[in-house]
Amino acid sequence: MRFSTKLVNLELKDKYGATNTPVYLSNSFAHQSAEDLEKIFNKRAPGYAYSRVSNPSVRAIEEKLMVLEEGKEGILTSSGMAAIATATLNVLENGDEFIATSSLFGGTYNLFKSYSNYGITPKFAEGVEVEDIKKLINSKTKLVFLETLGNPKLDIPDIKGIVRLCKDKGVPLIVDSTMTTPALINPLELGANVVIHSTSKYINGTSNSIGGVIIDGANFDWGSLDSFADYKKYGKFAFSVKARSEVFRNLGVASSPMNAFLNELGVPTLKLRMKVHCDNALELAKFLADHPEVKEVSYPGLEGNPYHQRAKGLFKGGFGGMLTLRVGSKERAFKLINELKYFYNLANIGDVKSLIIHPASTIYSRNSKEEQESLGVYDDLIRVSVGIEDVEDLKEDFEQGLEGIES
Ligand SMILES: *Cc1c(COP(=O)(O)O)cnc(C)c1O
Repeated sequence: MRFSTKLVNLELKDKYGATNTPVYLSNSFAHQSAEDLEKIFNKRAPGYAYSRVSNPSVRAIEEKLMVLEEGKEGILTSSGMAAIATATLNVLENGDEFIATSSLFGGTYNLFKSYSNYGITPKFAEGVEVEDIKKLINSKTKLVFLETLGNPKLDIPDIKGIVRLCKDKGVPLIVDSTMTTPALINPLELGANVVIHSTSKYINGTSNSIGGVIIDGANFDWGSLDSFADYKKYGKFAFSVKARSEVFRNLGVASSPMNAFLNELGVPTLKLRMKVHCDNALELAKFLADHPEVKEVSYPGLEGNPYHQRAKGLFKGGFGGMLTLRVGSKERAFKLINELKYFYNLANIGDVKSLIIHPASTIYSRNSKEEQESLGVYDDLIRVSVGIEDVEDLKEDFEQGLEGIES
């Protein structure tokens, strides 16, 4: 099966022939005998016991996303942040260090900073090149974390180079591919060890439920890390087994079956939607780059963009649906946002609707100026998540909006 066929055909084998996953809104699952429940609890037989740990509706989308990412195991979580926290805390212990690129999603950056309260030290690399990571790696480094396409900096790490570095140093690589989805890239195929998505974004597509997923490539020697000493017997699957048995169930970050169902509804149209997001973003970026009222446009699909060649090498059939523009001042940015008719002013990405936000005064308002700039956030920067509308309407809207800010 090729990718688009997988998107529509990986259905649950339901005993009544349902073609959408039935939603099992049941906290617990009853079993005939005490012996049966004992086996399920102790992972000696398949089956469900309690929905904080696993649930058949949740399992359906876990298996789908696992196949789409070419992974070997998947864990659906209550949010993208829950996926990131679970995956990283599954590896890190008091005294450990880890490295992340600095152009991270704001919530991830704040989460990682908070780890220093628990004796875990985050090191933020200045750039996205191998050298930037290499100079921070030492014997305490227990993982490297990066985003396929930085949000909102839109920088693209040298993933292949960083994979080689991590292999060489014996450090696992965790990749957040929310911005690119499996329609554009499969990080596990490139040698990453764990992939994360906020399914709230492109996978869901219509912003009707929050969710996250951790996909395990089962391609790292987890037994080589002290934190997996008790899980050595699970070999390549140690990461997933430990995550589900410890951080995931202890924190209680399971997805509700209803949210799992809503997120799964987006899966069949993922590739179709991503194609239009990418095409529209490219056309809008070109239009804005030529507009005299716009100071600067960042989009990896533009020829002059510093990440253009890398994006062409890494991404399949497009450059993503996000772009940023700078318009000279915060006042002009606000005016433009207020003038636009088709762009919803809100904090989200990956919706079929076009979305716009002024990051400095919202998502990043709690970060210092210095932090903002290292995250690629400026006072005159606007972030756009380009939707799947007719692109002519989006261009016309910007045309009239930009006319409005001249005065
Ligand atoms: C939104 C987002 C997250 C967090 O996901 P939630 O589902 O909102 O918790 C993580 N990474 C990236 C790149 C995101 O865009």
